[in-house]
Amino acid sequence: MKLAFHGAARTVTGSKHLVTLSNGKKFLLDCGMFQGMGKETESFNRHWGFNPAEVDYVFLSHAHVDHSGLLPKLVKDGFKGTIYATPATIDIIKVLLLDSAFIQKQDITFMNKKRIEEGRKLLEPLYTEEDVNRTFDHLKPVHYHQAVEVNENICLQFFDGGHIIGSATVFLTLTEKGKKFTLAFSGDVGRYGDPILHSPQTFPQADYIIIESTYGDKLHDRIDTYSEDLLKNIQETCLHKKGKLIIPAFSVGRTQELLYALNDLELDGVLPPIKYYVDSPMSIKVTEIVKHHTECFNRSVQKLMRNDADPFQFRGLHYITDKRESQALNADYKPSVIISASGMAEAGRVKHHIANSIENWRNTILITGYCEPHSLGARLKLRPETVGIFGMQYNVKANIVTLNSMSAHADYNDLCQYLSCQDQNEVKRVFIVHGEPDVQVEFKRRLLKKGFKDIEIPELHQEFGL
Ligand SMILES: [Zn+2]
Repeated sequence: MKLAFHGAARTVTGSKHLVTLSNGKKFLLDCGMFQGMGKETESFNRHWGFNPAEVDYVFLSHAHVDHSGLLPKLVKDGFKGTIYATPATIDIIKVLLLDSAFIQKQDITFMNKKRIEEGRKLLEPLYTEEDVNRTFDHLKPVHYHQAVEVNENICLQFFDGGHIIGSATVFLTLTEKGKKFTLAFSGDVGRYGDPILHSPQTFPQADYIIIESTYGDKLHDRIDTYSEDLLKNIQETCLHKKGKLIIPAFSVGRTQELLYALNDLELDGVLPPIKYYVDSPMSIKVTEIVKHHTECFNRSVQKLMRNDADPFQFRGLHYITDKRESQALNADYKPSVIISASGMAEAGRVKHHIANSIENWRNTILITGYCEPHSLGARLKLRPETVGIFGMQYNVKANIVTLNSMSAHADYNDLCQYLSCQDQNEVKRVFIVHGEPDVQVEFKRRLLKKGFKDIEIPELHQEFGL
């Protein structure tokens, strides 16, 4: 068997690992899009490093675009096989992939206008809406724990990864020349004690493990303080300073966590009586999907729902889909909380809200998740004196706060706990993926200390014989 890493290798984006069995069958673990890699992003996304027409199956860990976003291109480039994912993941990627095609169409139309004037060759999107719709025909739902005989050599099981709804550890039992062995792929690992989701589940003993390492060198703040942290920021910004609290948030995961926390504060009778907006059509669609996948909720949410049927809705909350309504918020100076995508503030309506409020000391920008090093979110985290947005320089007068208690990614304690179901002596090799290089080196050091022996940090397109 061969294992090759065609993404998320010494970086946190483009998750894509190809397994080739000795009988020639090939499958992909994830098929993620590269994002935020600067000028090279485009070329990373156009060059697979393998032939998509030769891939027989895809096993998808979760819906985030950096894990699923190139599926339509895979289909466009000749993939004819089956894509296995949990039911919640399937519902969410349907929305995310259509959105991705739409954004590409918009961007390409804009860029080509200029190219026509300059007489240059026109650009093409990675894929279109038609490619996305054709991708849907390849999707096959698999519930957590259900053992699926993919073919006579591959048995698949998903275990809840606790990262976003539908997220999974992909566990495979493979038969090679009459011998059985096991491979576990973590996808992204969630945190223990998440307010909404189950904690990451244990999985059977694996011979080979591919594990993410986004926060392999960090300890997060305690998860149970984030409601308090959020309340403190609302009080300081909206009640004391009469300003706006702008929260860039991923449509999948973070937005629902914020809504759940705000609903919780309302149930406790402490939520300040101001306006709360979710200003992102995508976040609204995803929140609707999340509400229907109650199987992904942990016991405390299920218990709460016996008395509060919709734990993501509370007094004062308004959903904004209309663009004009969104723009109207700019001229509204009343204290409010605006939750808007994207989470790294690289795109989407939140960028406009930040540009509009950054020069006012009354306002706060609250960063709640991981930000790619070059993203606007990451630049703001450094609290610069000025910042460039849409080609303009703005003075940073607003308060910039980072909430570390809200990460959807495991920190190194969580990652070690995640691996604690494994006997280190039985594990033949560990591959560390999905992390910044120096973080991965640190995580490797910690895993060696825990007793894991053969640990690799693969480079992009590096292949290993197992
Ligand atoms: Zn993820």
